[in-house]
Amino acid sequence: MHETVVAQSVFETILEHANKLGKRPVSAKMSCGQLNPINDEVMNFAFEAATNGTVCEGMRLVIEHIPLKAKCNECSEVFDFDIYAGGCVKCKSTDIKFEPDAPLLLEEIEFQDKE
Ligand SMILES: [Zn+2]
Repeated sequence: MHETVVAQSVFETILEHANKLGKRPVSAKMSCGQLNPINDEVMNFAFEAATNGTVCEGMRLVIEHIPLKAKCNECSEVFDFDIYAGGCVKCKSTDIKFEPDAPLLLEEIEFQDKE
């Protein structure tokens, strides 16, 4: 499962920073695009499993979903693509071009001094 691999990699990155700083990570924020989406529930479960028994155990993971941007070839409108709308939000044209999808990104990690 995709989330298991992502959770493992996110965990390893956080752990690396935590070891370098000598601090305890309390929360992290990551973002992902629409073409390679993360299921929050599966991701949190996989992350919990990966961090179990480590310094990262119990930390909070926030996942932000970045909308996929598209540009209309008819009216040049740039909009958040909605799969249910299927076309330009302004002129309804289906002649649209997609902007690059947001990458999977670990955006920030919050640390706390160890007690
Ligand atoms: Zn348009």
